[in-house]
Amino acid sequence: MNDAAPNAAPQTFYLKDYKPFGYEVESVKLTFQLSPNATKVHSAIRFTPKADAEDNRFFLHGEQLSLISAKIDGTPVTARLVDGGLECDVPRTSFLWEAEVEIDPAANTALEGLYMSNGMYCTQCEAEGFRKITYYPDRPDVMSTFTVRIEGDEPVMLSNGNPTGAGEGWAEWHDPWPKPAYLFALVAGDLVNHPGSFTTKSGKDVELNIWVRPGDEGKCAFGMEALKKSMKWDEDVYGLEYDLDLFNIVAVDDFNMGAMENKGLNIFNSSCVLASPETSTDANFERIEAIIAHEYFHNWTGNRITCRDWFQLCLKEGLTVFRDAQFTADMRSEPVKRIEDVIALRARQFPEDGGPLAHPPRPEEFQEINNFYTATVYEKGAEVIGMLKRLVGDDNYYKALNLYFERHDGQACTIEDWLKVFEDATGRDLNQFKLWYSQAGTPRVKVSEEYADGTYTLTFEQSTPPPPGQPEKAPRVIPMAVGLLSPNGDEVRATEVLELTEAKQSFTFEGLASKPVPSILREFSAPVILERETTNSERAFLLAHDTDPFNRWEAGNALAKEVRVAMVLDGAAPDAAYLDALEKLVRDDEQDPAFRALVLSPPSQSDIAQTLHERGHTPDPQKIYDAAETFTQTLAQQLETSLPRLYAATTVEGPYVPDADGAGKRALNGRILSLLTRLDGGEQAARQYASADNMTQQYAALAALMKAEKGEAQSKAFFEQWQDDRLVMDKWFALQIACAAPETTAATAKELTQHPLFSMKNPNRFRAVMGALAGNHAGFHHASGAGYQLLAENLIALDSVNPQTTARMCAAFQTWKRYDSKRQAQIQAELERILATSDLSRDTHEMVSRMLSA
Ligand SMILES: [Zn+2]
Repeated sequence: MNDAAPNAAPQTFYLKDYKPFGYEVESVKLTFQLSPNATKVHSAIRFTPKADAEDNRFFLHGEQLSLISAKIDGTPVTARLVDGGLECDVPRTSFLWEAEVEIDPAANTALEGLYMSNGMYCTQCEAEGFRKITYYPDRPDVMSTFTVRIEGDEPVMLSNGNPTGAGEGWAEWHDPWPKPAYLFALVAGDLVNHPGSFTTKSGKDVELNIWVRPGDEGKCAFGMEALKKSMKWDEDVYGLEYDLDLFNIVAVDDFNMGAMENKGLNIFNSSCVLASPETSTDANFERIEAIIAHEYFHNWTGNRITCRDWFQLCLKEGLTVFRDAQFTADMRSEPVKRIEDVIALRARQFPEDGGPLAHPPRPEEFQEINNFYTATVYEKGAEVIGMLKRLVGDDNYYKALNLYFERHDGQACTIEDWLKVFEDATGRDLNQFKLWYSQAGTPRVKVSEEYADGTYTLTFEQSTPPPPGQPEKAPRVIPMAVGLLSPNGDEVRATEVLELTEAKQSFTFEGLASKPVPSILREFSAPVILERETTNSERAFLLAHDTDPFNRWEAGNALAKEVRVAMVLDGAAPDAAYLDALEKLVRDDEQDPAFRALVLSPPSQSDIAQTLHERGHTPDPQKIYDAAETFTQTLAQQLETSLPRLYAATTVEGPYVPDADGAGKRALNGRILSLLTRLDGGEQAARQYASADNMTQQYAALAALMKAEKGEAQSKAFFEQWQDDRLVMDKWFALQIACAAPETTAATAKELTQHPLFSMKNPNRFRAVMGALAGNHAGFHHASGAGYQLLAENLIALDSVNPQTTARMCAAFQTWKRYDSKRQAQIQAELERILATSDLSRDTHEMVSRMLSA
């Protein structure tokens, strides 16, 4: 059920309206009597009125609860049920509030609060799920210790903190660290554990467990190692130690997000923790390692120091994403991680920042906070911290972080608190820098250059296009990492961070023997769009010579885009010089295979559409698709004689190890196999498919075959082999759609929604199908409009089951203004159809309204 009246505009919440809660919560004791359709929750909460409270209203959030009884200090009271919760007259001195409610976990398909997934009880309380468990001041600035008793007949019953007792049919837990309700967790079910242990740097032994359903025990070892590495890394790099005797992770099949950092009891989407060489690809392994680290790192950045209100979400998420990226860079390859992150940022955050869903990393208003778990809050939030670190330097960064943990441990904080710590630790004024948190939009930086008598001048002009009707945005602080190369390829100026603070600003470099070639925005030092007139030969020069690995890749990527754009706009043939440069690089065995694989991976078709749009053209998805096909076919032909040798040389022999080295080689090998498959009729891919002993190679072979329309037998065999493995089946569903030609994409996806293994109740499966549809650029945007229609129909159907996932997937339409008027009209009609659905959730209502109002 939903809270909003049918299609009424829901309430909007504003940052400026923040008021602290009028009561301290001294302690919380919860007792659960588990039952699938009628779980009873008894709460005993000690409240003390704050002497200096601005607002004495005693309001507790509560949704979808049946109130059985309420008492104050043991005496029954009558609570007034109001919109979104209850009110009650309470004493002006400390008192014990008790309530008993009944909830229905089995009917909870929204997967917020307490729900059931394949017979197992689990919870998801961030952001506002706890109010579906009991009446409570469900806001992150209310922190308390929790004691939990679980009664039921489940073999394993877990909650936060440390176990304090257990017997036949009951278990008790106590979490000594005060926490907001969004970090509460409970899990109960038939589970088995993969155990481990870790000794902290101060010598405390911590028991570790990964809990899974029987049968999945063999998929936990990698996650356990990743957890131990994360614990060690956080001690080594940030000096932060774990603070309980026990750390539990549970894998759950039905989960809206990737994973959740509940104190001492992390709950994971099974796709983000279960891994084995036979069922997981290299990309899965890397992602699992990163997500385990991310959730673990939240123990300090999120849990010990949390957010004052949900507008500050990027305080915990931006910082924790930044920390997990540092971790992955240390565990694997720093340049490869940076390149992957920038690809993802441009694919997800830049379109958001440039479209109707644009918002600053710290938004100032929302209707449904679930809609703000976005690429802007997470990824741009992390970029902002990366810029801050670059501006103050490494030593000052860690000095400021130490001060942050010292000053704010146990508190619920704001972006102002965060920036103040940097100001106090470094003496720097961050007022202008703060604009990154309050302004939406991706700044554009135009670069021009001049050279005379040994002096080289770079001039930067920054602007951020404001949304229609809004004033021009003030210039921001932009750290611009720049190096200079001489025409023979030597570096004549090492990387230097230039600090842009004005709308237009010049920097000079003196004593140069000749006009240098600049390498600008090294390491992608700021999330901006660089605009600079340059030639393809200079890009090729940087691809060959730049000492900054990110900018080497960037030069190749920019070249690839130019070539593709020329093919789309002028029907040009693929640029011969670029093909030669690619051939040289791919055959250069001295180069890192992971880097070669990245350079060989073409820019996405959506990225080309975005580039065309930024340059004032209307992208034609079919033409972009045709150009991509022509380019890949031409490249395959150009490499024809060397492909078999390259394939053999990059094949990884011996047992599969999911490390960065092997992953890089397999990524390059997979790229080469897909080119080879275009020429050899699929022979090599069929051999690889038949002999593969790991999912990375099996999947690469299947993908190459299906893309070439030669994989029917293998697709069938794959289904037979893996039909009982949910996570592998998600790959199978997605691959059918990803490999479909534009004119058959929607029909393929539609057919898969009729498949017996398709389910609206499992977010992973729904995303596998509908996410793949939205991700197939030319198929989704096919002129027939069938892709739009199918997605809209399925979103309408999902909304009553799971509003959160529906709303998030609506974002597939966010780039709609890029396209021609016919496509815009088709999309608009679908968005209006969604909005007209009766009983539409406030989640989806908000997302669709924002997109339509642009
Ligand atoms: Zn997080």
